Amino acid sequence: MKKVLHIGIDDTDSLKGSCTTHLATTIVTEIAGYVSFLDLPNLIRLNPNIPYKTRGNGAVAIRIIGEQKDLQECKEITIKTTEKLARFEDENTNPGIAFLMGEISGKLKAFSKQALWDVLSIAQAEMFQENAKIDLLKYGNGRGIIGALAAIGNLLEEDFTYEHLSYRHPKNYGTKRAIDEQSVYKADKATPLTFNNIDYEYNSVLITPRGADPVFSGIRGETVKEVLAAWELLEPLEPIVMQMVFRTNQHTNQHLFKRFKINQLKAHQAIITSGVVSRKPRYIPGRHLIFSLKDETGEIDCAAYEPTKRFRNIMNQLLVGDELEVSGGVRPTADKHPLTINLERVRIIKLIEDFKKENPFCDQCGARLKSAGKNKGFKCFKCSAVYRNKKVIQTERPRKITIGEYIPPAIAHRHLTKPQVRMGRDNTGTQLSERETNALLAKLIEFNRANN
Ligand SMILES: [Zn+2]
Repeated sequence: MKKVLHIGIDDTDSLKGSCTTHLATTIVTEIAGYVSFLDLPNLIRLNPNIPYKTRGNGAVAIRIIGEQKDLQECKEITIKTTEKLARFEDENTNPGIAFLMGEISGKLKAFSKQALWDVLSIAQAEMFQENAKIDLLKYGNGRGIIGALAAIGNLLEEDFTYEHLSYRHPKNYGTKRAIDEQSVYKADKATPLTFNNIDYEYNSVLITPRGADPVFSGIRGETVKEVLAAWELLEPLEPIVMQMVFRTNQHTNQHLFKRFKINQLKAHQAIITSGVVSRKPRYIPGRHLIFSLKDETGEIDCAAYEPTKRFRNIMNQLLVGDELEVSGGVRPTADKHPLTINLERVRIIKLIEDFKKENPFCDQCGARLKSAGKNKGFKCFKCSAVYRNKKVIQTERPRKITIGEYIPPAIAHRHLTKPQVRMGRDNTGTQLSERETNALLAKLIEFNRANN
């Protein structure tokens, strides 16, 4: 009888050139033939505010169906490949593998949901091991099992997107990615359902990363067809040895759903809170913009950091009294700053009216009056006239921002950030059938086997 096996892998990244998606692509390529796939490999981004995370805090789940002995073979391939490719010499790389046979429990789904916004412990992950259907393999300090398990439990049952990833020849790791940049502009224009290929505002190609990792390009989009179409139009100027399409929670804001009062906020969480601007925006060294927000329970600083560029100019228009809902990551207290929300999204709920207050003029000589003291009216310092009953002149100044939702430009986006172009878009329930999934994977695997 055929059985289902979920494989979760996390934290195999290092700055020196490994990458969890690269490992997953290698494993998928090696296990194909033994089993059939229930889904494209899933790339699950977890709480981006975890302090000891590797780049992007991404974990991967591979979901397969097959005979018991073939699944056993897949487990062994997974372990062998991980041990071969993970960068164990890097102390910040602490890989974890999770195997789960059969159904995903409600308890595991809840654990996965919490891993999107909260900080979980290794002990919390290990509680699942009491269940005989789950195997957890720890390497280094073992932290990787948290993400490995969280990836398995996130079935991407709500909104999701796709990412096509291509990989470089190892001899090119660490060098600048060679690509015909014009082909990126061409691919972007021809595929309206891909996004974040280029940041036009800052004229920056986002498709090719800059690090030492094996990824050559990443194309993000709404459908498999569209990310593949964009890939066909790209012109790499160096050899590509593997490619894969992942189904992912990237660009869905899946991490932003927990609402808290200000005095409940804890460091490293991804949160939503609301309040009133209590201290007006100000720039601090490094061109970061800070303002304070308060509710009935407390007050907290909010930051639009330098990389968020023009987003700072918008936030700089806020005035004390404006009502906001803010979302983002909570940065811990440090020597230089108190607990601070790193803003990822701001909804302006209500804007106060902005009045310019000026003293009235003298009826005798036309000069601007000065205050004669509290509740004592005004006095003219030019002709000495005194006015008991004149009032301050209030003129309404138009606000330069409007009610609505604001996010930083694509160049400063986190992987989970839902970009402007995706507003209102929801891909729930549109994934490929099992037959389509296996047909697509067969093609990609054929490419990988021929080129790797
Ligand atoms: Zn006067």
